[in-house]
Amino acid sequence: MDIEQPSHFRPSKGDFRWEAVAHQPYKQDGSAPFKDISRQVLFHEDSLGCELRYFEMDAGGYSTLERHEHSHAVMILRGQGDCLLGDEVYPVKQFDLVTIPSWTWHQFRATAGEPLGFLCMVNVVRDRPQLPTEEEFTRLMATPAIARFLERS
Ligand code: MN
Repeated sequence: MDIEQPSHFRPSKGDFRWEAVAHQPYKQDGSAPFKDISRQVLFHEDSLGCELRYFEMDAGGYSTLERHEHSHAVMILRGQGDCLLGDEVYPVKQFDLVTIPSWTWHQFRATAGEPLGFLCMVNVVRDRPQLPTEEEFTRLMATPAIARFLERS
């Protein structure tokens, strides 16, 4: 048996952690704004062309407001909060599904006083996320629901 290969069975350790899965900071480079969020890559399968990650933010935490060419398929796995998607803000809760199309602004926020965790499927090969310019941010803020969402911090 080749011990260099990752195990094909990695049991849950409970509390949204898994054996042989590294618990990492959300982003390594620190170049984009985010708060109190961690990342675990559950699957990275070149044969499938996709990765499945689990992101979790503490109460009050949030992911980066960004957009990019690649898409995401998200399932909320823990807790509840809010999700900005395009021109809308959606309340999200455990097992809700969110599809994030190409070039659509998105951000998750743990707004319910509890952790918010979600599975996120994404292409292995993908473009780098864009952050809003000042002009784009101003345009987003023109929608009242989005302004209320973004002003929480
Ligand atoms: Mn994204």
